[in-house]
Amino acid sequence: MKGQILLISGPSGSGKSTLLNRLLKEETDLYFSISSTTRAIRDGEKEGVNYHYISEEEFKKGIEEDSFLEWAYVHKNYYGTSLKPVLKALNEGKIAVFDIDVQGFHIARKKFGELITSVFITTHSQNELKRRLEGRGTDSAQTIEHRLTNALDEMEHILEYDYFFINDDLEESYKNLQSILRVIRLKSNSINLRETINNWREF
Ligand code: ADP
Ligand code: 5GP
Repeated sequence: MKGQILLISGPSGSGKSTLLNRLLKEETDLYFSISSTTRAIRDGEKEGVNYHYISEEEFKKGIEEDSFLEWAYVHKNYYGTSLKPVLKALNEGKIAVFDIDVQGFHIARKKFGELITSVFITTHSQNELKRRLEGRGTDSAQTIEHRLTNALDEMEHILEYDYFFINDDLEESYKNLQSILRVIRLKSNSINLRETINNWREF
């Protein structure tokens, strides 16, 4: 497999989707891994773009059939990464992008090890996270409380990630993400060694 994985985690509301949406628009060769979820679709989201929205029954069938590379129960809903399309992208030498939680990161890391470059993104404070979740206007007060509690648990895992930054200034954060992508592109494990040497010998 010549491809690589850019894996992003961080508290819900820290700005992962905002940053990734821009990155995916500008870097068109990336493959975004569209997760399946049992959570309800939000205003502004689209089936097959943000997620595949499926029933709990379908999700459990997917688990039984081993069709998930990893899955987790997050914020009272199931979320999972489909294995097949990711393997296809990696075999084609693409960079696959995952937006998954800490539990998913642990499983993915066991399966794909070196292929993963991991990034943890958060806000400068819990209050700012709350403001963003409220400002986004997609979740009930109870869901927001649940997501804030979860955020604290997730923060305990920051040191396990390759990179970490606070998403305060959106432009700065975007530049950080671009830099990480640049480094991934420079990693030698994505080159075809024979082809590189043959090209080098020709001239
Ligand atoms: P996540 O995907 O991590 O759950 P979102 O990308 O949906 O988070 O962002 C949550 C909210 O915060 C959105 O309303 C988004 O517009 C806003 N947001 C994202 N980044 C910033 C930032 N750097 N400063 C202020 N607001 C931001
Ligand atoms: P949201 O409901 O805000 O879109 O996502 C909630 C959380 O689920 C986020 O932390 C997000 O990274 C995580 N998530 C999304 N898709 C997956 C997935 O396929 N697997 C895992 N483990 N987590 C996911």
